[in-house]
Amino acid sequence: MSHELRVQAISQVTDRTPLPSKIPSRLEAIWAMDVFTLSKMQGCLPKDVFKSVQSTIKKGGKLDVSVAGAVAAAMKDWAISKGALYYAHVFYPLTNATAEKHDSFISVQSDGSVISEFTGKVLVQGEPDGSSFPNGGLRATNAARGYTAWDVTSPAYVMETDNGMTLCIPTVFVSWTGEALDKKTPLLRSNSAMSKAATRVLKLLGYTDVATVNSSCGAEQEYFLVDSHFAHNRPDLLLTGRTLFGKSPAKGQQFDDHYFGAIPERVQVFMQDVEEKLYRLGIPAKTRHNEVAPGQFEIAPFFEAANVASDHQQLLMTLLKITAKKHGFVCLLHEKPFAGVNGSGKHVNWSVGNPTQGNLLDPGDNPHKNLQFLLFCGAVIRGVHTYGSLLRAVVATASNDHRLGANEAPPAIISVYLGTQLEEVFEQIANGDVKDSAHGGMMDLGVDTLPIFVKDAGDRNRTSPFAFTGNRFEFRAVGSNQSVSGPLVAMNTVLADSLTWVGDKLEAELAKGIELSAAVFAVLKEVMDNHSAVIFGGDGYSEEWHKMAVEERGLPNLRTTADALPVLKEPKIEELFERVGVLTPVELESRFDVYAEQYIQTIEVEAKLVVSMAKTIIYPAAVRYLSDLGSAIANLSNIGITIEKETAEKVASLTQSMMDNVSKLVGASSIHDFEDAEAHMQYCAQTIRPLMDKVREYADALEGEIADDLWPLPTYQEMLFVK
Ligand code: ADP
Ligand code: MG
Repeated sequence: MSHELRVQAISQVTDRTPLPSKIPSRLEAIWAMDVFTLSKMQGCLPKDVFKSVQSTIKKGGKLDVSVAGAVAAAMKDWAISKGALYYAHVFYPLTNATAEKHDSFISVQSDGSVISEFTGKVLVQGEPDGSSFPNGGLRATNAARGYTAWDVTSPAYVMETDNGMTLCIPTVFVSWTGEALDKKTPLLRSNSAMSKAATRVLKLLGYTDVATVNSSCGAEQEYFLVDSHFAHNRPDLLLTGRTLFGKSPAKGQQFDDHYFGAIPERVQVFMQDVEEKLYRLGIPAKTRHNEVAPGQFEIAPFFEAANVASDHQQLLMTLLKITAKKHGFVCLLHEKPFAGVNGSGKHVNWSVGNPTQGNLLDPGDNPHKNLQFLLFCGAVIRGVHTYGSLLRAVVATASNDHRLGANEAPPAIISVYLGTQLEEVFEQIANGDVKDSAHGGMMDLGVDTLPIFVKDAGDRNRTSPFAFTGNRFEFRAVGSNQSVSGPLVAMNTVLADSLTWVGDKLEAELAKGIELSAAVFAVLKEVMDNHSAVIFGGDGYSEEWHKMAVEERGLPNLRTTADALPVLKEPKIEELFERVGVLTPVELESRFDVYAEQYIQTIEVEAKLVVSMAKTIIYPAAVRYLSDLGSAIANLSNIGITIEKETAEKVASLTQSMMDNVSKLVGASSIHDFEDAEAHMQYCAQTIRPLMDKVREYADALEGEIADDLWPLPTYQEMLFVK
């Protein structure tokens, strides 16, 4: 790293021309063209085979082996016609990345000739070597052997990769004893548990025709684009996804001139390229705009069934990264690539619904729908209050710690925002106001006086981590880098549990012989009596709230991952997952182990890099500058001119302080003996991270003193503003 490289990078960036923008293809012409959709299957499968596949997709579960052969053959022919030579079982291990094992369709015959082959058995089940994927406690018991199996609810597709075209099959990844080693299996389980509890409640509400309930997800993805010439001169960006050093520029985001501003041409060409790829894969990209920080953008696909949305979200992150490369950018999905500049989150919009009753979190336009809506909404409120710490734990990562619980929202305290109107309704329920009916009968009036809710997009509270937004909840604390699966699993599981409680209560109330609306309000009253503490409509960033939340409302404030992850080991959480049937205690424990290790490793890698960058990049620049200053002062004094020495003294003292803290960090990092993962995480949070920040503090101060023509690292100003 040298100053020359930095200067070269600036001119390389300014010399760039955007890739020529293509005329966008007609959406109808490219939509889902690379997906083996149901309609494509219908076109090439015998009727009975198609029917069987279709019903498996509706119900979920494994494909009937008797039809797998025909499906595999049709899928292979379709993929080969598109130029695919390989197929891959795509799965979602406990990292936030996607994993795939590529195999060729080639099959060598006994006479030495080859044919292309893809059997039903291979379609339904694969056997990648699981040993290199994190599996926590499951490793020892299962010798890490893992199986992948096609999740028929998520369609196969063809993807262009470095290997050429590949047929990709979304799969679950389980150990040979059936334990979930991945992020998809629990999501499928949580969805069916939620469906079971929700359909029971719907039946209690008097519906006779009740279809399977599915959760939905629309994820808004924020990201940064940095020119690759800059990124390649920043070892921290390359290795950790964030800048470990860097002085804030004179101008940041304070003018709010970037948000929703005109999208720069190069970025627009990039976005168009990404969108075309997404459309071909049947991913409904809908919204794109500049975000708050310079160099920050957002893309939000239209919502889909949670399981499919989750797979699509993974694909979207992959496509953002590989397409950015082609356009000379590095796409940063890290939650906080630049200190002092807005970070990136992923808002996970979530709801539940079915074809017979529609969106169950949509207030609807008649009193009965309102009643049903309030009940489901009440179940969410109860769930978030009871298991807020779990919702905090599933968004806990080393990188998300830079947003949550820091000075940037949403806070680490999980509360629910309902909007003014709905909050009032729930307050009335809590106060029993609905009893004072003009019609006399308690519940009649309650229902009649309930306002017809209108979706009010303007009624937003951006400081809330969990907000009702008209017909869904928006979980805003999710990290930009995260798989959405964990948060979806948590929400579905918590709701399943709450709906089971609601079902039991409602059944008991109805057994007393009271009217349905009275029974519903009795349940809701109990929800409010016990759980209204979680409802908060004020400023989630304020100090007063943080104090009030903890001291008066008893809500947990788990500031760091070290505080939040141990929640996964609490008996209450273990019982929840086991009772709802989403994760066994062993599976849950393995998740704690893996995520704790990821947290520790992330901080250890960053700490090492802080040390090496401070020593090998920043210290040499400081010493060179000191030496220049020293000779200048001496030379000038020889001819009778004296100049100030304060700068030299300041640089010397900052350099010394930086190196003192580097030594402390080296010393602190050499300690490896910890009682358990919890202790190790706390050590990372309370000792290592603050020392890294200290080194940075002095290094950033040096950046403000050292001659610009000696500074080796691309600056914030360059990375964020030079385009
Ligand atoms: P904002 O930035 O104002 O929050 P966006 O329009 O960017 O809103 O994103 C809203 C997201 O919520 C979109 O992905 C949208 O498809 C999704 N969404 C809308 N309705 C539902 C629903 N019923 N379930 C899940 N997601 C939904
Ligand atoms: Mg949003």
